[in-house]
Amino acid sequence: MSKKGLYTKTFGCQMNVYDSQRMGDVLKPLGFADTESPDGAELILINTCHIREKAAEKLFSELGRYRQIKEARERDGERTLIAVAGCVAQAEGEEILRRAPFVDIVVGPQTYHRLPEMVSRLGTDRAPQVDLDFAPEAKFDQLPANEANGPTAFLSIQEGCDKFCTFCVVPYTRGAEYSRPLADVIAEARGLALGGVREVTLLGQNVNAYHGDADGRSANFAELIRRVADIDGIERIRYTTSHPIDMDDDLIAVHGELAQLMPFLHLPVQSGSDSMLARMNRHHKIDLYRGIVDKLLRARPDLKLSTDFIVGFPGETDAEFQATLSFAREMGFVQAYCFKYSARPGTPAAILPGQLSEAIKSERLAALQQVLETNQLVFNESCVDRVMPILFDRPGRKPGQMIGRSPYMQPVHAMVPDHAFGDILDVRIVSARTISLGGELAVPILGSNPSVTHRGANV
Ligand code: SF4
Repeated sequence: MSKKGLYTKTFGCQMNVYDSQRMGDVLKPLGFADTESPDGAELILINTCHIREKAAEKLFSELGRYRQIKEARERDGERTLIAVAGCVAQAEGEEILRRAPFVDIVVGPQTYHRLPEMVSRLGTDRAPQVDLDFAPEAKFDQLPANEANGPTAFLSIQEGCDKFCTFCVVPYTRGAEYSRPLADVIAEARGLALGGVREVTLLGQNVNAYHGDADGRSANFAELIRRVADIDGIERIRYTTSHPIDMDDDLIAVHGELAQLMPFLHLPVQSGSDSMLARMNRHHKIDLYRGIVDKLLRARPDLKLSTDFIVGFPGETDAEFQATLSFAREMGFVQAYCFKYSARPGTPAAILPGQLSEAIKSERLAALQQVLETNQLVFNESCVDRVMPILFDRPGRKPGQMIGRSPYMQPVHAMVPDHAFGDILDVRIVSARTISLGGELAVPILGSNPSVTHRGANV
């Protein structure tokens, strides 16, 4: 079968990156293979994210570009299908078809396993195909095996959310919390390890709320991590995104038990003010967050934190914002994602009084980013002269250079021979910038001697 070009544009989080890979997997049996450019692609797939600011507007501007490609190809007698997937598709499916009637497929995050049927139906029926059901069990049952594609992989274990933070669309676009059965997750992790994956990132909207079926009982997230850590070949485990109220003592203990669990945790806090957290319906207070971090550091003293902040939430006062700034300084987050609040239609916060001006939001964002960038640079500079185990998984820009990840997810650039791709090597850090490190191999590589790889390494 001749290959048909599949061009995928992915917006948003790691969950979406995983979903895009899986959509590529389900389309392979129809002869689709990834292509780098939308020009000449038989299928253009846009995987959208509603968390992003002005997500719908960005989608429509992207669609305008693809419409021109589609029309040009049609003039040449070729056909290009355009599919919109992800959370914006789920939330705004009708609006997408109204404003962009040239779109052929609208599919939500829970039903993309049905893409092959939808594409096939378009062979005979030119009417747009729309599928926005909520059925995560069926999706995971019907996806093909998650094949290894390099030394790192995402593994989705949980979807949806029952927490209903007032700013967030996820409970509406991804549905209620659902955890995959333990045996299915372990089988997928084993398959990835057999394919050469050394670092697995467990994914879920509320990953640490995991409570998957294990032969009729409920397995918690700590149990799942212990089981993944037992798999031969899995040397690094990460997870994202977690919620403070699901950081139970068992999970915290796992951070102290397992060298494979990397000492870097993304734990969104969103604000440093209790009154803001209440208005956001976050279900936690600052003291609870502090207490969790204290326990985590007792279990794993070298642990570092990353977080999310929203600034300019409706009604945020100067005092509440100052509380966020001071909490960011206190916790010393080494990485953070900060967003200006922007209303998501249909969420409770969108109609709260006290919506702030763009000018105030921008000013607060800049002030917070300055604190966080300082934290990040101070931490990165503290890594200079340390020897860290780096998993090399990407070519660098310069000839002979590769980029790898430290246990703290810092990108590390070093001169490494090509055959060391996928190895975990000890690297002495020699330079630090805000977002990356430079390093040199601590032990020179002789041929492909595996003794220089750092198995099960820790910092
Ligand atoms: S916990 Fe809150 S922010 Fe996270 S997905 Fe659920 S509703 Fe959204």
